[in-house]
Amino acid sequence: MKKVDYIIVGLGLAGLAFVRELEKNNKSFIVFEDDSQHSSKVAGGMYNPVILKRFTPVWDAKRQLEIALPFYKELEEKFNATYDIPMDIGRLLTSIEEQNNWFATSDHPLLSDYMIPKIETKTYTGIESPFDYGKLTKTGRIDAKILLNDYRNYLVENECIYFEAFNYEVIQFENNIVKYQDVEAAKIVFCEGFGIKRNPFFNYLPMREAKGELITIHAPELEIDFVLKSAVFILPLGEHNFLVGATFNWKDKTNNPSEEGKNELVEKLDKIISVNYKVIDQVAGIRPTVKDRRPLIGTHPKLPQLAILNGLGTRGVMIAPTVAKELYKHIECGETLRKEIDIARFD
Ligand SMILES: Cc1cc2nc3c(=O)[nH]c(=O)nc-3n(C[C@H](O)[C@H](O)[C@H](O)COP(=O)(O)OP(=O)(O)OC[C@H]3O[C@@H](n4cnc5c(N)ncnc54)[C@H](O)[C@@H]3O)c2cc1C
Repeated sequence: MKKVDYIIVGLGLAGLAFVRELEKNNKSFIVFEDDSQHSSKVAGGMYNPVILKRFTPVWDAKRQLEIALPFYKELEEKFNATYDIPMDIGRLLTSIEEQNNWFATSDHPLLSDYMIPKIETKTYTGIESPFDYGKLTKTGRIDAKILLNDYRNYLVENECIYFEAFNYEVIQFENNIVKYQDVEAAKIVFCEGFGIKRNPFFNYLPMREAKGELITIHAPELEIDFVLKSAVFILPLGEHNFLVGATFNWKDKTNNPSEEGKNELVEKLDKIISVNYKVIDQVAGIRPTVKDRRPLIGTHPKLPQLAILNGLGTRGVMIAPTVAKELYKHIECGETLRKEIDIARFD
């Protein structure tokens, strides 16, 4: 029997962030990963503390960014790779009223570090911008796909990941420990994203998952070096390739790219750009969004050996490192979780 401190189910952004906490604290672990969910792998990966519909602060964003950016930097150093790609965001403004709102909110104490308090009037080939842009700075994108791939390989080298579906039915509970196949552990932390639906211990939690699709286009004449945000975002990937997204679909629960998703994105894109382009890729995943739009963190109400880190919603890149720390301190040091993230709010 292999003895470890933790079993982790799922290696998306949530699982990765928790595993990092374990490593930093010299805890042993085994990860189970079955590739049933794709959210972290397909995510746009953007981090941005401003809600661009209404120019309001994203919940808890300042604290999250203070933890997240050093978190990714440390991983860049560990793997000698680049994951954080700083990139400004240009919000295409649609009226004089929006211009005024941009000015009015740009000195908000939580936003003034990011919202540049002037209107950007530069024009770009193939983009109509009669009301110009509001620009955000200190924003960017984490290449979660490459990061997860590097982390996976590292766990393979260290022989602490099993590529198989975790089978909830065969957990044995004994005093303060759990046994699962040939592994004995003190705790299991479930980080399955939308996979939570298969988890009989935590599927009572009110996830309101939202499928999202993205396309990649090749547009040789498009010359933007910032993320353009309008009805969709257009994110430069280099070599005139751009990521365009994303859709929100609350009915389709599959990870498959759809014709409907592509058409929706193309239709919206055609209203923003008038240059030629070709769709060269399409991906889809299910965002683990929650009824009250807050993460699902905590230990099971009756089975203290089981914990959960989920509900990262539309902003896993920013949220994961902060809530992983909070869950770790809750489990290991008995620290009380903030009410708004604690799953006890649904007891
Ligand atoms: C189209 C799209 C665009 C997005 N854009 C952004 C963005 O720009 N910025 C941002 O911050 N966020 C974005 N998100 C949201 C972000 O992707 C999520 O918040 C985050 O990925 C959730 O991470 P997670 O680890 O909880 O879930 P997941 O990434 O779904 O990971 C769960 C993992 O658990 C595994 N698993 C599940 N069940 C089992 C089981 N029984 N046994 C073994 N393994 C299991 C799955 O295979 C998966 O690898 C986007 C999401 C989508 C879909």
